[in-house]
Amino acid sequence: MSAEDDSWSKVKKRLQAEVGDDIYSSWFARMDLEAIEDGTVRLSVPTRFLKSWIQSHYAERVLACWQTEVQEVGRVELIVRSAMRTTMVKPKPELEPSAGEAVRYPNGHGAKSRPLTVGEPNVHEALGGSPLDPRLTFDGFVVGRSNTLAHAAAKQVASAKRGDAVMFNPLYIHAGVGLGKTHLLQATTWAANAMGERKALYLTAEKFMYGFVSALRTQTALAFKEALRGIGVLVIDDLQFLQGKSTQAEFCHTLNALIDAGRQVVIASDRPPSDLESLDDRVRSRLAGGLVVEMGPLGEELRFEILKARVLAARAHHPSFDVPAPVLGYIAKTVTHNGRDLEGALNRLLAHNKLTGHPVTLEMAEREVRDLIRPQEPKRVKIEDIQRVVARQYNVSRSDLLSSRRTANVVRPRQVAMYLAKTLTLRSLPEIGRRFGGRDHTTVLHAVRKIEGLVGNDMALAEEIELLKRQLQE
Ligand code: ADP
Ligand code: MG
Repeated sequence: MSAEDDSWSKVKKRLQAEVGDDIYSSWFARMDLEAIEDGTVRLSVPTRFLKSWIQSHYAERVLACWQTEVQEVGRVELIVRSAMRTTMVKPKPELEPSAGEAVRYPNGHGAKSRPLTVGEPNVHEALGGSPLDPRLTFDGFVVGRSNTLAHAAAKQVASAKRGDAVMFNPLYIHAGVGLGKTHLLQATTWAANAMGERKALYLTAEKFMYGFVSALRTQTALAFKEALRGIGVLVIDDLQFLQGKSTQAEFCHTLNALIDAGRQVVIASDRPPSDLESLDDRVRSRLAGGLVVEMGPLGEELRFEILKARVLAARAHHPSFDVPAPVLGYIAKTVTHNGRDLEGALNRLLAHNKLTGHPVTLEMAEREVRDLIRPQEPKRVKIEDIQRVVARQYNVSRSDLLSSRRTANVVRPRQVAMYLAKTLTLRSLPEIGRRFGGRDHTTVLHAVRKIEGLVGNDMALAEEIELLKRQLQE
């Protein structure tokens, strides 16, 4: 074995030990060493997707592993194998830290400086919170029977002063899609910040996860925690998306630290704490220990009022936009699904009105919103499409997926494809097994469980699967 190959196998072992077997086999198992020249290590992967993932999530880690083995390595270049082999064009290096700055990790090697060149959100950005929509304020929030309590609690939280006794902590609001959770949370954030007493930070659970994960990776978890603790009101939206053991442990930590310090926490989710199956018991009981409020479906009257408020708001930009009351009544009566569809319906009327210059009439409204009335069925995804998209993504052929080959580069894609077949279609396990080269339903079940288990801990895989889902559902 050459010295290079020897180093490479050590680097791989080190990497595997650092990221764990699952992540390693998802992302690094197919990475090859192409060359080492002048302090630059050139590695190849089979797909662009892998390249960009590794680049944005693990670049520094890979470099650090190399530097531990071979001190002279200053840079890691990542290239896509097929592209390289067919064109032989030397790809441009995209992975370099800024000149002169070595990236080192603390497991022994000390140096602190790190370049900020890799495509990751920095901690400030993560802590800067998710963007707030200026329309989602208390002024624009219409109160009705289904949301009176949630609204009152949110108002109370937003207007509390520093040093006031915290009345309910956390405030936990749950409701189905489009029933105003985000609106209420953002309104709370705006209002609390407008008071100027306490800093309110609005984060989606996703932002919390990625912010935290990247903070961990950049060795500033402490700074991240410190900053979080400097916050008066922490608002977390869509908590149901919080996943992964370490994220949860950190979330639990943050929650306890904030609550114990008398800071306010506000949370929204699509389900009550008791139904957050992936959360551990301690977090669940802490969440349930504050005030838990449900917002029910929007009643017809509330829908009417929301529409009225929306038309008024739209008039600020489009003074000629007018929707007669009977039209509003018609939409409120027929578009029953949720707040988003109401908004969608009005947007169509507005667009039609602007583009054609025709006034809004009942007849036009009936035509424009017809498909919003019967809630659209979600697009039906076919198993062939799943196989095609997955095969393309992982650079294998569809027949590989159906074959009995058990090499790592087809096993994982096959499992992902089966998992997607189970989650995106109504097909039964035996049926899916049949469609994947006549496999047994227990094989499918195993694949589904495997992937379910992995996505809880492997953010990268979770995002990859989200991407695939999006492609399939578009
Ligand atoms: P969720 O976060 O619960 O899925 P959103 O807060 O995004 O729902 O609400 C969806 C849409 O419905 C938004 O445009 C929102 O402004 C509107 N909406 C929902 N409830 C109300 C309400 N009570 N008053 C005004 N607008 C509302
Ligand atoms: Mg929302």
